[in-house]
Amino acid sequence: MTTEPPERADIVIIGGGVMGASTAYHLARRGAGSVLLLERNSHFGQEATGRCAGGVRYQFATEVNVRLSIASLPMLERLRQDTGTDCNYRKCGYLFVLTKPEEVAVFRHNVAMQRGLGVQVEWLEGEEVRRRLPLMHFPDALAGTFHALDGLADPNSVVMGYLQRARQLGARTLTDAEVVAIECQAGRVQAVRTRAGRIACAHVVNAAGPWLAAIGAMAGVQIPVTPIRRQMVTTTPLPELPLDFPFVIDFAQSLYFHREGEGLLTGMSNPDQAPGLDQNIDEVWELTALEHAAARMPLLERAGRLSGWAGLYEVTPDSHPIFGLTPVEGFWVVGGFSGHGFMHGPISGKLMAEFILDGAASSVDVSTLDLARFTEGRLIHEYNVV
Ligand SMILES: Cc1cc2nc3c(=O)[nH]c(=O)nc-3n(C[C@H](O)[C@H](O)[C@H](O)COP(=O)(O)OP(=O)(O)OC[C@H]3O[C@@H](n4cnc5c(N)ncnc54)[C@H](O)[C@@H]3O)c2cc1C
Repeated sequence: MTTEPPERADIVIIGGGVMGASTAYHLARRGAGSVLLLERNSHFGQEATGRCAGGVRYQFATEVNVRLSIASLPMLERLRQDTGTDCNYRKCGYLFVLTKPEEVAVFRHNVAMQRGLGVQVEWLEGEEVRRRLPLMHFPDALAGTFHALDGLADPNSVVMGYLQRARQLGARTLTDAEVVAIECQAGRVQAVRTRAGRIACAHVVNAAGPWLAAIGAMAGVQIPVTPIRRQMVTTTPLPELPLDFPFVIDFAQSLYFHREGEGLLTGMSNPDQAPGLDQNIDEVWELTALEHAAARMPLLERAGRLSGWAGLYEVTPDSHPIFGLTPVEGFWVVGGFSGHGFMHGPISGKLMAEFILDGAASSVDVSTLDLARFTEGRLIHEYNVV
């Protein structure tokens, strides 16, 4: 939907991925005044959100991430009720395969923490991992973890569901609306500028995902988010693949597999990937990743390549997101999920509405995930990054 931007809005959201869409919906639902979402592309949800693997999980290494999942994943289940759109949440479970003794020790500790929060993760011995994955080759599996409520959902439906409902509730959402400047005066946001004109506003939410730092710089705020390319491929149908095949992660190699249609989706994070905004497929890495994938799943030798694409992770120094106010009054930030933001999109928008309308987030305590932690040395490390 392309129209001219208005001259003013109470709250302007920059970015039409899952964070922006969820924030727009939650603000509109609470009657937050005039809410305007600006997306640079000609369609919403085409960047990190639209290129993601669609995985949703409760299995994280820090309490705050598990709590975000506990709040967010049921919101995916309620999406149809809340917005009229279903996101096809399939609970196939995530199975982390552990092949290194040091991983086993950390995961044992994490499973105890997860269970303490009510997340019933199963601990699997190596033999049980092999029994559950007969199509895979894991002679070196020492142990594994499985959680049946983890799974997959459709990112596009989540974005579209939130945006459609936000519009019904009075929000405006514009495509082809690139923000090129943010005006601030006396430490306060005054307006944003697009190529089509100036929009005076009291609040700006920076939800620009991998471009979070670039938007921050427009307001003179340093946001330590680095874009890093990640890529994956899907295969032609593999009839041997059972319908309930889980989301499998070979943790040491950051190599993952899940059912996609009648075939498989597989990806592997390149540990040497240089930061940057390049979203072209690295064909050399694709071959490397496929060789590693076929070694774990020999069946892949018989599959064809159906499609492949690359996208950008939005990575922070501690692999945790950033929520809340910046040093500029009225300039808010939500992002930097470091590879797992799709699943936390629903609760993140709700938290942003709480920040802006109530002065503090109440649904989940994210006070440790403020922007100031980077300058104040309060980083929190997340081990379960894929
Ligand atoms: C390959 C890959 C696999 C992934 N797998 C998973 C997974 O399985 N599970 C999971 O939970 N997460 C996964 N993620 C991470 C997840 O995709 C992201 O964390 C999440 O989508 C971030 O959402 P966002 O709204 O912050 O960013 P985006 O979706 O990138 O949205 C930001 C938007 O801001 C817009 N924008 C930027 N600059 C401007 C500007 N100047 N003016 C206007 N608009 C602007 C962009 O065009 C973009 O649409 C994966 C990511 C990748 C790349």
